[in-house]
Amino acid sequence: DAKERGRNSVRFFNQQMQADVSARSDIATGLRQALLQDEFVLYFQPQLERNLGVVGAEVLLRWQHPQHGMIVPASFIPVAESSGQILQIGRWVLEKSCLQLAEWARHTDTAHWYLAVNISARQLHSSAFVQEVVSALEQSGAAPEKLVLELTESQLLQDIDTIIDKMQQLNTLGVRFSLDDFGTGYSSLSYLKLLPLKQLKIDRSFVRDLLTDPNDKAIIKTILALGQSLELAVIAEGVETEAQYSKLLHLGCQQFQGYFFGEPMPQTSFVTRYRQRHEMQN
Ligand code: C2E
Ligand code: MG
Ligand code: MG
Ligand code: MG
Repeated sequence: DAKERGRNSVRFFNQQMQADVSARSDIATGLRQALLQDEFVLYFQPQLERNLGVVGAEVLLRWQHPQHGMIVPASFIPVAESSGQILQIGRWVLEKSCLQLAEWARHTDTAHWYLAVNISARQLHSSAFVQEVVSALEQSGAAPEKLVLELTESQLLQDIDTIIDKMQQLNTLGVRFSLDDFGTGYSSLSYLKLLPLKQLKIDRSFVRDLLTDPNDKAIIKTILALGQSLELAVIAEGVETEAQYSKLLHLGCQQFQGYFFGEPMPQTSFVTRYRQRHEMQN
């Protein structure tokens, strides 16, 4: 009867919760191993200018799990955020990215590329953040001008004065900042002006239905106009088709990223693919 079903569904719910809790603690334990055993891998997704030249890449983290194979960030970053492990993982990503920049700088056909690294809220709010970025740059010898840090709007809601101060310190060294997933958060237009930003990154949810949804088109046009008046470059992420690319080009977007141009890939594939394209163009 209904009462019986009710009881069962409560028990099911509890079992489900139990399963989630143990899955989360499995992941947390796995993450500790992952750092020690070197199971994280950086993937690189190209960012292109209007002429389709590759100017850099976004660094996207992958976990090469010995049993479960390649794991994407959505499956472990939230756990790493709540356990605090994101601090160590994020530092590892920064160090590896800077080493990669320094290595690319030694070859003429890769030396022009920058890297855009995603920074978590916990990292940005940690008191060691500026020093960690500076150490990663110094120890690798990477040029600060080649490092872009991607932040999201939600990270900027708290302690805005401290954040601005940190951003300015790094900006003085040459490090640039991009505002990721732009349009999905609660940006106050007044503080956009205060932040030392170089780029707005249009969230891919607006790009997806750009050709069919007039609201998405209107939002993208507004972001492009905002970029122009605040003198910020605008990049569109999640560009999957030629039609989306043409439309964005027509609307005046300056930079592009998405499966249409290239998926996130290992470093060796990235260099082989885009160094060749660069040579062919010249
Ligand atoms: P994000 O920074 O917005 O990164 C873009 C995501 O969109 C990536 O997912 C990328 O693979 C995916 N993507 C790229 N092009 C397309 C496209 O054309 N269509 C669609 N549908 N998706 C596309 P990924 O690699 O799974 O990363 C997801 C999120 O995880 C990232 O979103 C970022 O917030 C976070 N993340 C990734 N790496 C790191 C990291 O090293 N540290 C931190 N804190 N977060 C990271
Ligand atoms: Mg990003
Ligand atoms: Mg994004
Ligand atoms: Mg995102």
